Amino acid sequence: MLVLVINCGSSSLKYELFDMKNGVSLADGLAERVGIAGGNNAVLNYRRRGNEKIEMAVSMPDHRVAVSLVLKALADPEHGVINDLKDIKAVGHRVVHGGEKFAASVLITPEVIEAIEQFCELAPLHNPANLLGIRACQELIPDTPHVAVFDTAFHQTMPKHAYLYGLPYELYQELGVRRYGFHGTSHRYVCEVATGLLAERGVPVEEQCIVTCHLGNGCSMAAVKGGKSIDTTLGFTPLEGLLMGTRCGDLDPALVPFLMDRLGLDTREVDTLMNKQSGLLGVSGVSSDMRDVHAAAAKGNERAKIAISLFCYRVRKYIGAYAAVMGGLHAVVFTAGIGENDPEVRQRSIDGLEFLGIKIDQARNADPSIRGQITDISATDARTRVFVIPTDEELLIARDTADFLNNS
Ligand code: AMP
Repeated sequence: MLVLVINCGSSSLKYELFDMKNGVSLADGLAERVGIAGGNNAVLNYRRRGNEKIEMAVSMPDHRVAVSLVLKALADPEHGVINDLKDIKAVGHRVVHGGEKFAASVLITPEVIEAIEQFCELAPLHNPANLLGIRACQELIPDTPHVAVFDTAFHQTMPKHAYLYGLPYELYQELGVRRYGFHGTSHRYVCEVATGLLAERGVPVEEQCIVTCHLGNGCSMAAVKGGKSIDTTLGFTPLEGLLMGTRCGDLDPALVPFLMDRLGLDTREVDTLMNKQSGLLGVSGVSSDMRDVHAAAAKGNERAKIAISLFCYRVRKYIGAYAAVMGGLHAVVFTAGIGENDPEVRQRSIDGLEFLGIKIDQARNADPSIRGQITDISATDARTRVFVIPTDEELLIARDTADFLNNS
């Protein structure tokens, strides 16, 4: 059973085709600069499993053309992996915001599209782009079921005391002002892997307390108790919580009017300041990319050093907070670009947490050969496990989509 996964951004389209008999990826790629400057400088990447990536300069004025070129590449007689579009049994779409309506993946119907449209107000950069992908695919592969997998769904199990802000309750009732959380697909994927590893060690699934740390360009953590997310660091928008590549994370909300007054910023400008000019980039003044920040720190750049310290400090602070809210801790999971590849950040994020039973095997943590592997980096005698688990959001979307087919 072949399932196509589509993750559509405003000018990009990421895709991956899976054979769900064994969960193996057959081909993947990315369309970039779709619709920018009429789509004339657009590029389509395509890679068949085990082969080199092919890069094609093609005109992609809109997402419909992008999807049609992806389908053409997948069915290409020389490099393709399917004979006919009918081989694709279902399409899974990443959708960022499902509000309070969607706590699980759903078959896309006109009502679901209407709801996703409603949530565009809450995710103006993402949901409209996700809809572009859905509509283009529905047009080009109309007889195939399309399934929406929401970034927010996993966190819908948060209790009210975790998702409400200390604002007038009417704002929640009338405007939907609350914490939603994001990166849910990634947290859920790595959590399912960690759950299996802990179960093998004899920890009953319903008792498991896991903190998942998705540390990439965007960063978030989740407290997952008995398989359910009970708190997460991102909130109403993907800005709250940890320090990120260009996003500031937690701050005193009174800073917003202060900065607007003192710097003469309008709402859009202050939003840009917090979302695009802050985080690792803003603190270090070097880059939003952790590798560049490390390189600068190694040369003695003080701002780069403090940016890394600030980054790790917040991760450590939330591990402690989440152990407290769960009343225990069985495992910490590191994932995404930084979490999977940066031993220094992992080490510094858990420094001083021995009182929670955390102790890592430093040699294993620093071993470059663990890259891309599910690895337990804890010391053998540690009470609490620390896992590095490569995330695979696309595979989870494909699984949800295939489950839907199997159960319908
Ligand atoms: P993602 O959003 O998951 O693709 O992660 C992007 C982040 O991962 C960027 O900050 C990269 O610098 C970081 N990253 C990727 N590889 C490494 C590495 N080997 N060491 C440190 N950070 C890395």
